[in-house]
Amino acid sequence: MKVYIDGKYYEKDEAKISVYDHGLLYGDGVFEGIRVYAGKVFKLEAHIGRLYRSAQAIALNIPIKEAETAAVVLKTVELNGIHEGYIRLLVTRGRGDLGVDPRKCPVPSVIVIVDDISLYPREFYAKGISVITASTRRMPADCLDPRIKSLNYLNNILAKIEASRAGALEAIMLSREGYVTECTGDNIFIINNKTIITPLSHSGILEGITRETVIELSGALHLPFRASTLTRYDLYNAEECFLTGTGAEIIPVISIDGRTIGTGSPGPVTRRLIEAFRQRVTSI
Ligand code: PMP
Repeated sequence: MKVYIDGKYYEKDEAKISVYDHGLLYGDGVFEGIRVYAGKVFKLEAHIGRLYRSAQAIALNIPIKEAETAAVVLKTVELNGIHEGYIRLLVTRGRGDLGVDPRKCPVPSVIVIVDDISLYPREFYAKGISVITASTRRMPADCLDPRIKSLNYLNNILAKIEASRAGALEAIMLSREGYVTECTGDNIFIINNKTIITPLSHSGILEGITRETVIELSGALHLPFRASTLTRYDLYNAEECFLTGTGAEIIPVISIDGRTIGTGSPGPVTRRLIEAFRQRVTSI
């Protein structure tokens, strides 16, 4: 695999950045996870847009324009002959000194890595997964807005540790006020009274591109949809529940904190959306 770093391509083992890069020292940077389906990059423009908005929010000037970044992503996919895979596009603050001050980092680094995709194990797409709600709360927007897809994932990692210690595959994170936000690497949806519901984009979540795709699909399929405030009560009483993400796609949830969701197997709306999603990504 060839990795792009700042205008050059390197073999995987030769692809290195400085230990003085503030991406490493402080998690100072932004990134995107993008999918390649049948040799085509899924929703590249949306990912590039989100990357530049994340960068703008942390006052990071990406040294190349959007169109060039998109071209670099496409070229890296082509060079590596990727048909089905995953792209990690990241921009670090760059090399500085050991202090926090980003003014000491004059040149941000742009990196593109392509690799195989690791989904949840296949069987879980058919039978659904069990999740927990974590005691670690999602970062409030007045501390670090979760709409920024930053290199600092410690908040999510702490919740993920809780999930794995509880024997669950994912953790749902609540806001400080106790409202449902999202999972450590996925957005969350429930179905209640036949309506597809997901937390509002301003409720302290990453505005997921798969979430957006599911919202588009619900419109195309004439399935009622709304974004709303949700509590754990709504989760426990949901008819169906599923998670969405670039890596996960759409994965059904059948148990939350030990409460069985719906019938305990993936429901009809979730299955319909999974089917529609599959068609959508294979028809790009
Ligand atoms: N929330 C978080 C915290 C994420 O890291 C991700 C991406 N893995 C998502 C939601 C889903 O976003 P997307 O559909 O754009 O991958």
